[in-house]
Amino acid sequence: VPLVLTQFLDRAVSLYGAKKAIHCDDRVFTYQELNNRVNKLSHGLRSLGVQKGDRVAFLAPNSVEMLEGFYGVFQLGAVMVPLNIRLKPDDYLFILNHSETKVLFVDQELYHLILPIKNQLKTVEKIIVHYIESETDEVGYDQWLDSQDDRPFNREPLDENDVCSLLYTSGTTGNPKGVMLTHRNNYIHALSTMHHLRVSDEDVLLHVLPMFHVNGWGSPFYYTANGATQVCLRKATPEAIFANLEKHKVSVMHMAPTVLNSLLQYYEQNVPELDQDVRVIIAGSAPPPAFVTRVEKELGWEFIQVYGMTESSPLSLVSTVRSHLKDIPMKDQYRMKAKAGHSMIGCEVKVVNDNGEEVEHDGIEIGEVVTRSNGVMKGYWKNEEATMETIRNGWLHTGDMATVDEYGNIDIVDRKKDIIISGGENISSIEVEGVLYDHPAVLEAAVIAVPHEKWGETPHAYVVIRSGGTITEKELIAFSREKLAHFKAITGVTFVDELPKTASGKIQKVHLRNEYWEEKG
Ligand code: ATP
Ligand code: MG
Repeated sequence: VPLVLTQFLDRAVSLYGAKKAIHCDDRVFTYQELNNRVNKLSHGLRSLGVQKGDRVAFLAPNSVEMLEGFYGVFQLGAVMVPLNIRLKPDDYLFILNHSETKVLFVDQELYHLILPIKNQLKTVEKIIVHYIESETDEVGYDQWLDSQDDRPFNREPLDENDVCSLLYTSGTTGNPKGVMLTHRNNYIHALSTMHHLRVSDEDVLLHVLPMFHVNGWGSPFYYTANGATQVCLRKATPEAIFANLEKHKVSVMHMAPTVLNSLLQYYEQNVPELDQDVRVIIAGSAPPPAFVTRVEKELGWEFIQVYGMTESSPLSLVSTVRSHLKDIPMKDQYRMKAKAGHSMIGCEVKVVNDNGEEVEHDGIEIGEVVTRSNGVMKGYWKNEEATMETIRNGWLHTGDMATVDEYGNIDIVDRKKDIIISGGENISSIEVEGVLYDHPAVLEAAVIAVPHEKWGETPHAYVVIRSGGTITEKELIAFSREKLAHFKAITGVTFVDELPKTASGKIQKVHLRNEYWEEKG
């Protein structure tokens, strides 16, 4: 049997047909109802002439429409292209033409981003608008869906190596790249992840991360496969999140550290009592160690760190505190969870030096993370050169640098591009940020390399101060010198009101570097 993602929905429908599949704002659908909508969507797409391999794009926040979009598109063997909702019209023009998208679904509130470029779209034949209220020339989704056949859909025969999605990377370091993932990539990733996160039919997932980004993208597969309930909010503000925890008996959330930061902040200031069932939260993207402690100690939720990238579906490492070490002191356990951890089932992960040899397990030697698994992408869409550069001898070269400790835990040091080289020493911007986050007045921090006459480069911090907090540049420099080897300490601070972020909540250091250079002329 080929590993095809539609099997996940089939399983949920046959085992949990009458169970609540999705609760989004004030709409609720059981798995059976969701399946009927999915069938209608597939019929509708077929009547528009969409065929196996064709691209269908979605520009929408987390919603029922987004969730059913996955399976509706897969039944046809078509390829889903989820679009980041925080881009500019010109970015959409690029992605839609680059991906040669045939049908575009767009949320009514985002339609104004498409209107200015509509006439320049080369391949889009149809635009369908979710929640249409205002006058546009486009078709409204609800009406369109209602008029479709809801009988079972005669699916296209699929091979597990068929591409099912074209996901564009976050664009943290430059232009986003189109990543081709196959059914097998996502299927194996889902099996492994549901094991490590212990997903069951008792789970209620609150979607906090956007489904259009790879971190949020994978979860509809493994929560559906297990008949769990998914809750989503059009706007996942901290206030809305806390209000929904109790209401829906939420048990699990996937987070980006920046979102987690605002959640912790909100909790400390506004939530006197919390009666909820959250068992675990999962976060990647370099969570500062202080967050791990705050989540486990203050909120009492288990924290699991994961590591991955779009190119590997995304996850390949998961933090673990092994049971035979359970009696080690809590603070050491927190420290372990602050590391990305061990390879997930189905993934091989190594940290290698420039000669391709594995680094010492001493927590000191730094090398590049490389991984090999069934989750590794087929390649970058229409970019053979970048594909060959990234996947060499079957190994995905992540561009992330790491050390390995005596237990085999992999600790991500930094992106190759973000490492600060000062007086010949490598400094991890992530490590320095981790220390700054320990300071009570610091709300957000990002550390970049800036030029230094004597040392070549030196760490410089961009900092957002917590409301009510005060700190001067001198004090923060002194604080970092107290906690870090002096060569790693920051030598300058720029205080800002906010930091530039991607839609997946990552701080875009590339913009900070540009800003720094502009200011220095
Ligand atoms: P682009 O490739 O377009 O510049 P991006 O690399 O941010 O953007 P993603 O695929 O969303 O796009 O992110 C993957 C990257 O996120 C990883 O390569 C790594 O640098 C970072 N990352 C993910 N998880 C962790 C983690 N647990 N610790 C440190 N860094 C992480
Ligand atoms: Mg990347």
